[in-house]
Amino acid sequence: MIKVEGLHKNYGKLEVLKGISTNIKAGEVVAIIGPSGSGKSTFLRCMNVLENATSGRIWVGNHELTDKKTNIMKVRQNVGMVFQHFHLFPHKTVLQNLTYAPMKVKGMSKDQAEKIAHELLEQVGLTEKSDEYPTRLSGGQKQRVAIARALAMQPEVMLFDEPTSALDPEMVKEVLEVMKSLAHTGMTMAIVTHEMGFAREVADRVLFLDGGVLVEDAPPEEFFTNPKSQRAQDFLQKML
Ligand code: ADP
Ligand code: MG
Repeated sequence: MIKVEGLHKNYGKLEVLKGISTNIKAGEVVAIIGPSGSGKSTFLRCMNVLENATSGRIWVGNHELTDKKTNIMKVRQNVGMVFQHFHLFPHKTVLQNLTYAPMKVKGMSKDQAEKIAHELLEQVGLTEKSDEYPTRLSGGQKQRVAIARALAMQPEVMLFDEPTSALDPEMVKEVLEVMKSLAHTGMTMAIVTHEMGFAREVADRVLFLDGGVLVEDAPPEEFFTNPKSQRAQDFLQKML
């Protein structure tokens, strides 16, 4: 579903990604972990063309993002993104947050968009909040709305950038539960997270980034019990 080949990303002289290559298969759930500043967000943002690669190639489905001829808007519709700080539209209700892009970007009818939105709100356990404004929701509820909103575009891939890092501890679980059930539907997911228990339980693979280098790419059992690199060992020592 996603193929990354020799991805480099520089900001001016700062080399943030130093040649990353990996594949993510359809239906696979990949946890991306590593120290702060290691390039995790940049890596994710390149997969959604929120950042342009400096060099290297990225494919999502059959489309090469790094090909100038590719219609990026089209590809981006196919890749849902969930951010640490929700990024909901504050002046729209929950339902309007979910129906806006499908109607505006995909030209979906209001009826159809609302039907899908209600199904998704049920999926994330927020049926009763459809007419509420985001400011009246808890952090956990906001993030579940953000997930439902991304899903409303019916993407093939979902990217999550530390979706629970801004939440109070008691709200982390409800969001992780939604993500876990989404994983069980067969969604292809790449998740930047510091939730090691979640990564271990839900991910099919762990990518460990350090200093812009993909240091390890392994199944969670292997990564957590027997990390090969010193850098991963040091990181896990601090995290667990
Ligand atoms: P992580 O998500 O792993 O914490 P990031 O991908 O956010 O790491 O950042 C990696 C490095 O790139 C950091 O040194 C950060 O300061 C730098 N960086 C990120 N975004 C920008 C930007 N827009 N301009 C300049 N430097 C950036
Ligand atoms: Mg980050």
